[in-house]
Amino acid sequence: MYNPSAANGAANTVSGSRVFLYEVVGLRQNMESDRLSYPIRRSGSVFFTVPYNRMGEMVQRITRLGGKIIGIRPLTMEGTGNATPAASSPASEGAPKSQPQPAAKAELEIPVNIYRPNKPYVGKCLSNQEMVREGGEGTVRHLTFDLSGGDLRYLEGQSIGIIPPGTDSKGKPQKLRLYSIASTRHGDHLDDKTVSLCVRRLEYKHPETGEQVFGVCSSFLCGLQPGDDVKITGPVGKEMLLPNDPEATIIMMATGTGIAPFRAFLWRMFKENNPDYQFKGLAWLFFGVAYTPNVLYKDELEELQRQFPDNLRLTYAISREQKNASGGKMYIQDRIAENADELWQLVQKPNTHTYICGLKGMEGGIDAGMSAAASQSGANWSEYQKILKKQERWHVETY
Ligand code: FAD
Repeated sequence: MYNPSAANGAANTVSGSRVFLYEVVGLRQNMESDRLSYPIRRSGSVFFTVPYNRMGEMVQRITRLGGKIIGIRPLTMEGTGNATPAASSPASEGAPKSQPQPAAKAELEIPVNIYRPNKPYVGKCLSNQEMVREGGEGTVRHLTFDLSGGDLRYLEGQSIGIIPPGTDSKGKPQKLRLYSIASTRHGDHLDDKTVSLCVRRLEYKHPETGEQVFGVCSSFLCGLQPGDDVKITGPVGKEMLLPNDPEATIIMMATGTGIAPFRAFLWRMFKENNPDYQFKGLAWLFFGVAYTPNVLYKDELEELQRQFPDNLRLTYAISREQKNASGGKMYIQDRIAENADELWQLVQKPNTHTYICGLKGMEGGIDAGMSAAASQSGANWSEYQKILKKQERWHVETY
């Protein structure tokens, strides 16, 4: 289904654009001074505007001269005369000296809404596996659906909608619920024909009656049997996409099922041998859960860490078992605070992306930790974060 090569710059669909901005590092001087290419210097990188019909030739020249392309993005024709990619924003006034640089990532063809609620794709459940081990709390299932009968394709970090059967309290058909995709674009079977989710069954006591209530869609999903039909919409979402740069630093902060998109990231980085994406950067996962048996995908995560000790770091916050520095429960924000100085150094690198996914409200503690570290360097975290967001290097999806 999804063709990675078609997703690269040459196939971009930006209207009217056949000119691209290349960000290059490590060039020897003679190309930097090449008058045909109009380089623009910024923090060690050199930028070239390249017409579509010279892309191949340019790649060869850059490689010959020892350069490395770390980003390609399309420019509109109007943009070519003014190609400086620095984001000059009001937020940058009075911002820290070490301002983040823009993430020059290749534009992908991002699939969205291939299937809409009025005509969903009807897939089949292939497997439904419990992820919480004995002694943990709640129910979380890893589900895989067959996509072979349609055209649903997606990228890591996107979500799909699920329409549960039946009607709501007003007698109307149930509305879709969104779920982060937990598999890579190639699917768990690596045949481009499946999509996987990580779903927690919503379960709570009714605040007035005290009655146990189960969520409609999450209960439907958690109860699926192999062979059952499921109505799927989407994909949706551009907030949580992974940059193409294989040297990037990817910081991931997850609580509970917030691990779903990061499972997709880590599988793409470390489990699949993708010719178009050989990850050599640093991935650092902070994962907050209540109990050790609630660490979803624990064995696989730790196996990856054993195999790639230089490229993958795992930091758990296990709130009901571990204690923070002041003797309280260990939440993800406590781990962020413990590592805030290093995280602050990392987020200042131009190719660092930070992702937050999971429980609503988890950002508050993360900001507090980052704020303390930034202020030690005389920086204002909320101003700095605005720039990171503008540069699409600070990604949040909480629910
Ligand atoms: P519903 O039957 O719709 O019930 C939800 C309602 O119950 C709430 O609106 C609220 O009114 C009420 N409620 C909930 N908790 C309480 C409480 N403690 N006390 C009182 N009332 C309460 N979920 C996952 O499991 N995995 C994912 O990967 C995932 N990804 C998501 C990605 C995005 C972008 C978004 C927006 C959401 C994601 N969700 C995910 C959440 C998911 O969409 C559903 O919201 C969730 O499964 C609950 O749906 P439901 O139909 O089971 O619950």
